[in-house]
Amino acid sequence: MSNFVTRTGGCGPVRLATLVLLLVPAGSHPVLGDEYLSGMAWEEPAVVRPGRDGGPPSDAVVLFDGKDLSAWENASRWRVQDGAMICGKGNIRTKQSFGDCQLHIEWSAPLPVTRQGQGRGNSGVFLMGIYEIQVLDSYDNQTYFDGQAGAIYKQTPPQVNAMRPPGEWNVFDILWTAPRFQEDGSLKSPAFITALHNGVVILNHFQLQGDTPFVRPPRYAPHAERLPIMLQHHGSPVRFRNIWVRPIQPAAGQRVRPPFLRNARGEERPVP
Ligand code: MG
Repeated sequence: MSNFVTRTGGCGPVRLATLVLLLVPAGSHPVLGDEYLSGMAWEEPAVVRPGRDGGPPSDAVVLFDGKDLSAWENASRWRVQDGAMICGKGNIRTKQSFGDCQLHIEWSAPLPVTRQGQGRGNSGVFLMGIYEIQVLDSYDNQTYFDGQAGAIYKQTPPQVNAMRPPGEWNVFDILWTAPRFQEDGSLKSPAFITALHNGVVILNHFQLQGDTPFVRPPRYAPHAERLPIMLQHHGSPVRFRNIWVRPIQPAAGQRVRPPFLRNARGEERPVP
Protein backbone atom coordinates (compact mmCIF):
# COMPACT_ATOMS: atom_id res chain seq x y z
CA MET A 1 0.00 0.00 0.00
CA SER A 2 2.85 2.38 0.74
CA ASN A 3 4.27 1.80 -2.78
CA PHE A 4 0.95 2.73 -4.32
CA VAL A 5 0.76 5.93 -2.34
CA THR A 6 4.28 6.85 -3.48
CA ARG A 7 3.59 6.21 -7.19
CA THR A 8 0.40 8.22 -7.27
CA GLY A 9 1.87 11.15 -5.51
CA GLY A 10 0.00 10.72 -2.26
CA CYS A 11 -3.60 9.93 -3.05
CA GLY A 12 -5.97 10.28 -0.08
CA PRO A 13 -7.49 7.39 1.83
CA VAL A 14 -10.86 7.78 0.08
CA ARG A 15 -9.39 7.33 -3.42
CA LEU A 16 -7.29 4.42 -2.17
CA ALA A 17 -10.35 2.71 -0.74
CA THR A 18 -12.15 3.18 -4.07
CA LEU A 19 -9.34 1.42 -5.89
CA VAL A 20 -9.42 -1.48 -3.43
CA LEU A 21 -13.15 -1.83 -4.04
CA LEU A 22 -12.53 -2.11 -7.79
CA LEU A 23 -9.92 -4.81 -7.30
CA VAL A 24 -11.92 -7.23 -5.12
CA PRO A 25 -14.71 -9.47 -6.46
CA ALA A 26 -18.12 -7.83 -6.61
CA GLY A 27 -20.20 -8.44 -3.50
CA SER A 28 -17.35 -9.24 -1.14
CA HIS A 29 -16.28 -7.14 1.78
CA PRO A 30 -13.29 -5.09 0.54
CA VAL A 31 -11.13 -6.26 3.40
CA LEU A 32 -12.76 -9.20 5.15
CA GLY A 33 -14.63 -11.02 2.35
CA ASP A 34 -18.02 -12.68 2.81
CA GLU A 35 -19.55 -12.72 6.24
CA TYR A 36 -19.83 -15.98 8.16
CA LEU A 37 -23.12 -16.50 10.02
CA SER A 38 -23.52 -19.29 12.52
CA GLY A 39 -27.18 -20.16 11.84
CA MET A 40 -27.89 -19.80 15.56
CA ALA A 41 -30.68 -17.62 16.97
CA TRP A 42 -29.17 -16.37 20.21
CA GLU A 43 -31.14 -14.89 23.06
CA GLU A 44 -29.93 -11.51 24.25
CA PRO A 45 -27.61 -11.95 27.25
CA ALA A 46 -29.08 -10.58 30.46
CA VAL A 47 -27.60 -7.33 31.70
CA VAL A 48 -25.66 -7.74 34.95
CA ARG A 49 -24.22 -4.79 36.82
CA PRO A 50 -20.77 -5.80 38.09
CA GLY A 51 -19.89 -5.33 41.74
CA ARG A 52 -17.11 -3.07 42.95
CA ASP A 53 -14.03 -4.30 44.83
CA GLY A 54 -15.20 -7.91 44.85
CA GLY A 55 -18.75 -7.02 45.83
CA PRO A 56 -21.71 -8.96 44.49
CA PRO A 57 -22.90 -8.40 40.91
CA SER A 58 -26.53 -7.38 40.55
CA ASP A 59 -27.77 -10.94 39.95
CA ALA A 60 -25.83 -12.61 42.76
CA VAL A 61 -27.33 -14.45 45.72
CA VAL A 62 -25.67 -12.87 48.73
CA LEU A 63 -24.77 -15.53 51.30
CA PHE A 64 -23.08 -13.19 53.78
CA ASP A 65 -22.87 -9.42 53.69
CA GLY A 66 -21.24 -8.85 57.06
CA LYS A 67 -24.47 -8.61 59.04
CA ASP A 68 -26.08 -11.96 59.82
CA LEU A 69 -26.13 -15.69 59.17
CA SER A 70 -29.70 -15.81 57.87
CA ALA A 71 -28.65 -17.53 54.63
CA TRP A 72 -27.22 -20.50 56.57
CA GLU A 73 -28.49 -23.48 58.47
CA ASN A 74 -26.94 -24.97 61.62
CA ALA A 75 -25.14 -21.68 62.27
CA SER A 76 -26.25 -21.02 65.85
CA ARG A 77 -22.74 -21.67 67.16
CA TRP A 78 -21.03 -19.50 64.59
CA ARG A 79 -20.91 -15.78 65.32
CA VAL A 80 -20.67 -12.48 63.50
CA GLN A 81 -18.08 -9.97 64.59
CA ASP A 82 -16.70 -6.88 62.84
CA GLY A 83 -18.37 -7.78 59.56
CA ALA A 84 -17.02 -11.33 59.49
CA MET A 85 -18.55 -14.67 60.37
CA ILE A 86 -16.35 -16.78 62.60
CA CYS A 87 -16.23 -20.54 62.46
CA GLY A 88 -17.84 -22.15 65.49
CA LYS A 89 -18.95 -25.69 66.23
CA GLY A 90 -20.57 -27.63 63.42
CA ASN A 91 -20.57 -27.36 59.65
CA ILE A 92 -22.99 -24.85 58.17
CA ARG A 93 -24.96 -25.12 54.93
CA THR A 94 -26.71 -22.62 52.74
CA LYS A 95 -30.49 -22.69 52.88
CA GLN A 96 -30.56 -22.45 49.09
CA SER A 97 -29.20 -25.13 46.80
CA PHE A 98 -26.86 -24.55 43.88
CA GLY A 99 -25.55 -26.50 40.91
CA ASP A 100 -23.30 -24.89 38.31
CA CYS A 101 -22.21 -21.61 39.86
CA GLN A 102 -19.70 -18.84 40.36
CA LEU A 103 -18.77 -18.52 44.02
CA HIS A 104 -16.90 -15.65 45.65
CA ILE A 105 -15.77 -16.17 49.22
CA GLU A 106 -13.23 -14.33 51.35
CA TRP A 107 -11.55 -15.95 54.33
CA SER A 108 -8.85 -15.24 56.85
CA ALA A 109 -6.68 -17.69 58.76
CA PRO A 110 -6.71 -17.01 62.50
CA LEU A 111 -4.26 -15.15 64.69
CA PRO A 112 -2.42 -15.93 66.84
CA VAL A 113 -0.89 -18.74 64.82
CA THR A 114 -1.16 -22.00 66.69
CA ARG A 115 -0.48 -25.63 65.77
CA GLN A 116 0.93 -27.00 62.52
CA GLY A 117 -0.10 -28.69 59.31
CA GLN A 118 -3.77 -29.57 59.02
CA GLY A 119 -4.37 -28.16 62.51
CA ARG A 120 -3.63 -24.58 61.49
CA GLY A 121 -6.57 -22.57 60.21
CA ASN A 122 -8.44 -25.53 58.76
CA SER A 123 -11.89 -25.14 57.26
CA GLY A 124 -13.20 -25.89 53.81
CA VAL A 125 -15.65 -24.88 51.12
CA PHE A 126 -17.71 -27.90 50.10
CA LEU A 127 -19.40 -27.40 46.75
CA MET A 128 -22.76 -29.14 46.88
CA GLY A 129 -21.84 -30.14 50.43
CA ILE A 130 -19.68 -32.93 49.01
CA TYR A 131 -16.62 -31.67 47.12
CA GLU A 132 -14.04 -29.79 49.23
CA ILE A 133 -11.71 -27.05 48.15
CA GLN A 134 -9.46 -26.76 51.16
CA VAL A 135 -9.28 -23.74 53.41
CA LEU A 136 -6.10 -23.83 55.50
CA ASP A 137 -3.39 -21.49 56.76
CA SER A 138 -0.87 -22.48 54.11
CA TYR A 139 1.38 -19.51 54.75
CA ASP A 140 4.71 -20.99 55.79
CA ASN A 141 2.95 -24.14 56.99
CA GLN A 142 3.92 -27.49 55.53
CA THR A 143 1.38 -30.24 55.08
CA TYR A 144 0.65 -32.82 52.38
CA PHE A 145 0.30 -30.85 49.17
CA ASP A 146 -3.11 -32.19 48.18
CA GLY A 147 -4.34 -30.95 51.54
CA GLN A 148 -3.05 -27.37 51.50
CA ALA A 149 -5.16 -24.28 50.84
CA GLY A 150 -6.81 -24.40 47.43
CA ALA A 151 -6.37 -28.16 47.05
CA ILE A 152 -9.22 -30.37 45.98
CA TYR A 153 -8.79 -32.44 49.07
CA LYS A 154 -6.79 -35.63 48.40
CA GLN A 155 -7.14 -35.18 44.61
CA THR A 156 -4.82 -32.36 43.58
CA PRO A 157 -2.74 -29.60 45.12
CA PRO A 158 -3.35 -26.06 43.90
CA GLN A 159 -1.12 -25.18 40.94
CA VAL A 160 0.65 -22.59 43.13
CA ASN A 161 0.49 -21.34 46.70
CA ALA A 162 -1.00 -17.83 46.56
CA MET A 163 -1.64 -17.59 50.30
CA ARG A 164 -1.66 -14.33 52.23
CA PRO A 165 -0.35 -14.30 55.83
CA PRO A 166 -2.70 -15.19 58.69
CA GLY A 167 -4.91 -12.29 59.69
CA GLU A 168 -5.04 -10.96 56.12
CA TRP A 169 -7.95 -11.68 53.79
CA ASN A 170 -7.80 -14.35 51.10
CA VAL A 171 -10.22 -14.53 48.20
CA PHE A 172 -11.45 -17.63 46.41
CA ASP A 173 -13.24 -17.08 43.10
CA ILE A 174 -14.59 -20.43 42.00
CA LEU A 175 -16.28 -21.65 38.82
CA TRP A 176 -18.09 -24.89 39.48
CA THR A 177 -19.55 -27.33 37.00
CA ALA A 178 -21.67 -29.88 38.82
CA PRO A 179 -21.46 -33.56 37.92
CA ARG A 180 -24.35 -35.09 36.01
CA PHE A 181 -25.79 -38.53 36.55
CA GLN A 182 -27.76 -40.87 34.34
CA GLU A 183 -31.16 -42.05 35.44
CA ASP A 184 -29.63 -45.38 36.49
CA GLY A 185 -27.27 -43.47 38.81
CA SER A 186 -24.12 -43.89 36.72
CA LEU A 187 -21.92 -40.89 36.05
CA LYS A 188 -22.90 -38.94 32.94
CA SER A 189 -20.25 -36.21 33.24
CA PRO A 190 -17.82 -35.42 36.07
CA ALA A 191 -17.53 -32.23 38.06
CA PHE A 192 -15.06 -29.55 37.00
CA ILE A 193 -13.62 -26.68 38.98
CA THR A 194 -11.67 -23.57 38.07
CA ALA A 195 -10.47 -21.43 40.95
CA LEU A 196 -8.49 -18.28 41.60
CA HIS A 197 -6.83 -17.61 44.93
CA ASN A 198 -6.26 -13.90 45.43
CA GLY A 199 -6.58 -13.42 41.66
CA VAL A 200 -4.08 -16.20 40.86
CA VAL A 201 -5.23 -19.32 39.02
CA ILE A 202 -4.82 -22.37 41.24
CA LEU A 203 -7.20 -24.81 39.52
CA ASN A 204 -7.88 -24.71 35.79
CA HIS A 205 -10.86 -26.79 34.72
CA PHE A 206 -9.75 -29.59 37.03
CA GLN A 207 -11.79 -32.75 36.61
CA LEU A 208 -12.83 -34.18 39.95
CA GLN A 209 -12.55 -37.93 40.54
CA GLY A 210 -15.46 -37.84 42.98
CA ASP A 211 -15.97 -36.70 46.55
CA THR A 212 -13.15 -35.71 48.92
CA PRO A 213 -13.09 -37.84 52.07
CA PHE A 214 -10.10 -38.47 54.36
CA VAL A 215 -10.60 -42.20 54.77
CA ARG A 216 -11.07 -43.68 51.29
CA PRO A 217 -10.54 -42.96 47.60
CA PRO A 218 -12.80 -40.44 45.88
CA ARG A 219 -15.92 -41.74 44.22
CA TYR A 220 -19.14 -40.45 42.74
CA ALA A 221 -22.57 -41.27 44.10
CA PRO A 222 -25.68 -39.90 42.40
CA HIS A 223 -27.22 -36.79 43.90
CA ALA A 224 -29.52 -33.90 43.10
CA GLU A 225 -28.72 -31.29 40.43
CA ARG A 226 -28.53 -28.60 43.10
CA LEU A 227 -27.39 -28.92 46.71
CA PRO A 228 -26.38 -26.53 49.51
CA ILE A 229 -22.85 -25.14 49.79
CA MET A 230 -21.20 -26.17 53.07
CA LEU A 231 -18.50 -24.50 55.16
CA GLN A 232 -16.52 -26.81 57.36
CA HIS A 233 -15.89 -26.60 61.07
CA HIS A 234 -12.49 -28.17 61.71
CA GLY A 235 -11.66 -26.66 65.09
CA SER A 236 -10.10 -23.41 63.88
CA PRO A 237 -11.69 -19.94 64.25
CA VAL A 238 -11.41 -19.17 60.52
CA ARG A 239 -13.22 -15.99 59.51
CA PHE A 240 -15.32 -15.50 56.36
CA ARG A 241 -16.79 -12.43 54.72
CA ASN A 242 -18.28 -11.17 51.44
CA ILE A 243 -19.77 -14.44 50.23
CA TRP A 244 -21.91 -14.47 47.13
CA VAL A 245 -22.86 -16.95 44.45
CA ARG A 246 -24.30 -16.77 40.95
CA PRO A 247 -26.03 -19.76 39.36
CA ILE A 248 -24.59 -19.94 35.84
CA GLN A 249 -25.66 -21.49 32.57
CA PRO A 250 -24.48 -21.38 28.97
CA ALA A 251 -25.72 -18.66 26.64
CA ALA A 252 -29.18 -19.60 25.35
CA GLY A 253 -29.97 -20.11 21.69
CA GLN A 254 -31.12 -22.59 19.11
CA ARG A 255 -30.00 -23.58 15.66
CA VAL A 256 -32.39 -22.29 13.04
CA ARG A 257 -30.34 -23.25 9.98
CA PRO A 258 -26.86 -24.57 9.07
CA PRO A 259 -23.95 -22.12 9.10
CA PHE A 260 -23.67 -20.03 5.91
CA LEU A 261 -21.81 -17.21 4.17
CA ARG A 262 -23.36 -13.96 2.94
CA ASN A 263 -21.88 -11.44 0.52
CA ALA A 264 -22.42 -7.70 0.41
CA ARG A 265 -25.39 -8.08 -1.95
CA GLY A 266 -27.13 -10.31 0.58
CA GLU A 267 -26.56 -13.47 -1.45
CA GLU A 268 -26.11 -16.53 0.73
CA ARG A 269 -24.24 -19.78 0.18
CA PRO A 270 -23.39 -22.76 2.35
CA VAL A 271 -20.06 -22.95 4.07
CA PRO A 272 -17.85 -25.00 1.69
MG1 MG B 1 -10.73 -28.69 55.51
